[in-house]
Amino acid sequence: MSPLQIFKLAEENKIILFTDEVENALKNSVLKNRKVCVISVAGIFRQGKSFVLNFFLHFLKKKIQKIEKWIDPDDKLFLGFSWKSTTEGITEGILMWPEIFLTETESNDEIAIILMDTQGTADHTTSGTQSASLFALSVLISSVQIYNVKNHLNTDHLKNLQVFTGYGGTYCENSPEKPFQKLVILVRDWEYPFEYDYGFEGGKMLLETVFRKHRESQQEELTTIQETIEENFEQVGCFLMPHPGKEVATNPNFDGDFDCVDDEFLGCVETFVETILAPENVVPKKINGEFVTVQGLLELIKMYGNHFKEGKQLNVKTIYAATAEAYHQECLNQAVDEFSKQVEQCDSFLKADEEKMKILQNFETKVSKMGTKKMIRRCKERLKQTLNGVFEKHRPRFEEQGLRNFCKKVFSYTTGSST
Ligand code: GDP
Ligand code: MG
Repeated sequence: MSPLQIFKLAEENKIILFTDEVENALKNSVLKNRKVCVISVAGIFRQGKSFVLNFFLHFLKKKIQKIEKWIDPDDKLFLGFSWKSTTEGITEGILMWPEIFLTETESNDEIAIILMDTQGTADHTTSGTQSASLFALSVLISSVQIYNVKNHLNTDHLKNLQVFTGYGGTYCENSPEKPFQKLVILVRDWEYPFEYDYGFEGGKMLLETVFRKHRESQQEELTTIQETIEENFEQVGCFLMPHPGKEVATNPNFDGDFDCVDDEFLGCVETFVETILAPENVVPKKINGEFVTVQGLLELIKMYGNHFKEGKQLNVKTIYAATAEAYHQECLNQAVDEFSKQVEQCDSFLKADEEKMKILQNFETKVSKMGTKKMIRRCKERLKQTLNGVFEKHRPRFEEQGLRNFCKKVFSYTTGSST
């Protein structure tokens, strides 16, 4: 098994979307109606993103096998997302692991986990570059965005984040909901544990310091980086990770042997993965406050893919339109599923019609939260037609039931029976 390419960068600023493979993985999955948590790692190339993502994969694989001690010195790291020791031949794009895992949440719900790796080569500093588009796509699609940086965290890193999240922010401007769920800044090869300790606590203190420094240094800007990031993400965290050791960093033949990785790193990466995937922390993807299913995620990927494929630059209007379209499609799918289930229980036209009305009403409240009036009207029309189609399939059954009820009534009338 190997990772699937979802998006790939091509010439002239185009982003190619690979629909078939993604459809196979998402649409045909038995988990297609589950809520989904998408964990995506993004950042500059050659800074250990794929390496750390493999720890998530390793954890989830061991969990299926019910192996609790998932990091064993005698074992090797599962190499799902390959890492390269050269800078050559890296495809820029977004990859996805084809297996979808299930994990429990605090409310005993089971939720699908999808892992995504963003491979960029350049620094994501200017909003117009392709790498920036990739990063923005990663943020838009994921529910846990891990932003990987090396050695230190500075205002430039945060300014980049501000640019990407700014795009998202606008689509929820009139909504009380924040557009994105969780941001975790992961600082690799952290060198000052005596100042801020490894882990989430040290990370939190470092992040507060960087935010404060930026606040103090700025004079005219009205919105601080902190405000933008906090307005856009429901949760923001930072984790300080130690160096993995010389073997990992420099040996081109390193093959994932845990024995060759520094214990301190292993201890920290264990905490990192276990904390993010803990039942009380696992974060489902939402659009406008509504949960997205695995199938809905496919819609989202397709909508964004279509907007970028012509080489269009990222812009707030198209992102808003793509998100709203995917959101409408998800609401529509859910309404059709719901009606298909309900109509099975109905034994008359009247009952089924009542159900249809209820579902339409509920749907209307939901879709009206996003999109232009025209889009909303189109979507409502589409739902009506689809529901009518479902209704028609049941027509013969209702007619038969109606006839039976009618005969029963006639029979009771002619025989004087009260039943
Ligand atoms: P990516 O391009 O960001 O996905 O980076 P990779 O995961 O492919 O790793 C690039 C190189 O850095 C590989 O040789 C890894 O063995 C090494 N590496 C992985 N994690 C770390 C880390 O935390 N620190 C250092 N210094 N090197 C790492
Ligand atoms: Mg990589």
